[in-house]
Amino acid sequence: MTTTYDVCIRGSGMVGSTLALLLARQRLRVALVGTPSSAQDMRAFALNQVSQNVLTDLRCWPSPEFATPVQSMRIWGDQGGVISFDSPQGQALNHIVDVQALEKLLHQAVDFQPSIERHSAPVQALLTVVCEGKNSSTRQELGIDFQSMPYPQHALATRVRLDTPHQQQALQWFAQAPDGLDILALLPLGGAQGQEAAVVWSLPSSRAQTLCAASDAELSLALTKASRNTLGNLQVCSAKSTWPLQTAQATQWSGTFANAHSWVLAGDAAHSVHPLAGMGLNLGLADVAALAHILSQREGKEYWRGVGDKFLLRRYERERKAGLMPTLLACDGIQRMFSHPSTVAQSLRNWGLSSFDQLSHLKQWTVQQAIHPSF
Ligand SMILES: Cc1cc2nc3c(=O)[nH]c(=O)nc-3n(C[C@H](O)[C@H](O)[C@H](O)COP(=O)(O)OP(=O)(O)OC[C@H]3O[C@@H](n4cnc5c(N)ncnc54)[C@H](O)[C@@H]3O)c2cc1C
Repeated sequence: MTTTYDVCIRGSGMVGSTLALLLARQRLRVALVGTPSSAQDMRAFALNQVSQNVLTDLRCWPSPEFATPVQSMRIWGDQGGVISFDSPQGQALNHIVDVQALEKLLHQAVDFQPSIERHSAPVQALLTVVCEGKNSSTRQELGIDFQSMPYPQHALATRVRLDTPHQQQALQWFAQAPDGLDILALLPLGGAQGQEAAVVWSLPSSRAQTLCAASDAELSLALTKASRNTLGNLQVCSAKSTWPLQTAQATQWSGTFANAHSWVLAGDAAHSVHPLAGMGLNLGLADVAALAHILSQREGKEYWRGVGDKFLLRRYERERKAGLMPTLLACDGIQRMFSHPSTVAQSLRNWGLSSFDQLSHLKQWTVQQAIHPSF
């Protein structure tokens, strides 16, 4: 069978679509497998400067109404600890981006690009990039070990209307309940003057299901209480859904099929992190930006290498595994630290938060790392 495509991307989510656009700019012939999802996703994602640059470059960064800059962030521990971060003058800590708005822009851009063709099933290509998300069937067919550790938590996602404008604040609370840890985040929506917030509430799984099945009024009350009335009364104003949580990483990210054509993994198909730090899509976009950059080196001094060149793909695998590790460890570490039930651990973590809050130089450094991450 002749191979008419350079690259076949399996999965047309945000990571797969972004990669298709990046590769089309290198004049590669791209097949994109999968149809845009018609499900209403009410989530909003915290995206960092690196992701913003990638999406802006592709003209897929949403308008200000759908990408709210975060000017300050406040995190409360489970026993009085608190830490706050303010953005430096003229910069945002990150942006809270409406998922549906971003997906729409990516899909429109893909449909506008003549060198990308949509397919409903995989096609032959010199390189296959698997962007099928955490339950990737291609990864399973390839027999790649996906070392995963499920958390006893689900994330409940919805949106709330606020009594007053959010003032571009992102807020997070860690709390110990008799059934385990819960982590509530309220992320500002609707632009700088907006009066809505996206909710990501990581809860012990059975409580997450109960609250998801509760009426809007009951959930609004529970959210107002869990947010300690900081933003006044919260009114649920969208659909709600739950997501199972895990930390996971594929042991192998690149290889070859039986026909000697190459494959690589990217995005959630390669790794999964707890959403407490809002990093999953940022990591996935960093994966595809790195892959596109490495493949672009074929246009220069490595012109003799093909798009499925194993040396280039192993370079991608090494680079991204190293980039992923600090975030994977940090997200899992924070989750574990706050899950520990002992009172000594509780005192220590709250003392740690408040002490860190006093260290202005370290805080400035942390803010710069958040704005310009090096992964
Ligand atoms: C509650 C919650 C909040 C989050 N908040 C943030 C945040 O604030 N910031 C952040 O950066 N990240 C966040 N994340 C993480 C983010 O959702 C994921 O990292 C991101 O969606 C991964 O994108 P992806 O394209 O790799 O996978 P997915 O979004 O899972 O997309 C995979 C696509 O592949 C398709 N597919 C699956 N199997 C096949 C197949 N066999 N053939 C063809 N297509 C297939 C699917 O239908 C889907 O369209 C959050 C996650 C959760 C659960």
